[in-house]
Amino acid sequence: VPELPDVEGFKRVLSEHAAGRQITGIEVRDAGVIRGRTVVDFVGSLSGRVFAEPARAGKWLLAPTDGPTLLAHFGMTGSLLWAGPDEDLNGWQNRYDRVLFDVGTGRLIYRDQRKLRGLWLCAPEEECAALLARQGPDALGLTGRRLSDRLQGHRGVLKAVLMDQSVIAGLGNMLSDEVLWRARIHPARQFASLDTAERRRLDRSLQTVLRASAEQGGIPRTNRWLSSRRNAGGRCPRCHSALRTSRLAGRTSYWCPACQLAKD
Ligand SMILES: [Zn+2]
Repeated sequence: VPELPDVEGFKRVLSEHAAGRQITGIEVRDAGVIRGRTVVDFVGSLSGRVFAEPARAGKWLLAPTDGPTLLAHFGMTGSLLWAGPDEDLNGWQNRYDRVLFDVGTGRLIYRDQRKLRGLWLCAPEEECAALLARQGPDALGLTGRRLSDRLQGHRGVLKAVLMDQSVIAGLGNMLSDEVLWRARIHPARQFASLDTAERRRLDRSLQTVLRASAEQGGIPRTNRWLSSRRNAGGRCPRCHSALRTSRLAGRTSYWCPACQLAKD
């Protein structure tokens, strides 16, 4: 599931291959991912435009052009890929390629199996701001106490508050588990119950996890992170206890019963 670091990776794909280049063709294979516009309007508004440097806000990718801005949200299964001129586009996965942009000598592909979100166009600036207005500040831009300040006053289990995009934008299921495991805080704790040392650990953990994963363009594939053990029989990378799972905020949480005590 794409979270902040994955979208950071998609941003890099766009920046590396498409920024400064013209969109010379658009193939919409599935109109179901085009939101708020007709396909004709979408294609007409973007064709011939030149991509500028992309940006990210939470789990949104913003791709401005010299015309409207293209906004992408990847839902549960979306991704953005680059296919060079020699790349074989007939692989098994490609039935999920929904929209293809001809840019330079290759193609930028929006691929999404479940189509929970999709692609938006917005112009001018105010329209883009309105689309993003319901979410809180981007998690990567917040440091130290500013993170805790955002969490302050929100009731509900910490896991749910961390995943709430209106509080902090960018974290999903896996990142939230990783952050809480590293901070040694049980996912069902309440923020109000944390002592000073725990708050500090949470701040530090958020920064470490977000920075390291954003740099990689995804959660690092290392067995020192909890994310590598999300499977039956998975053990804590720190103390080797058998991990537990619980259903929190509608998602399966992984946590270590030895490292993350439920103190409430
Ligand atoms: Zn442990």
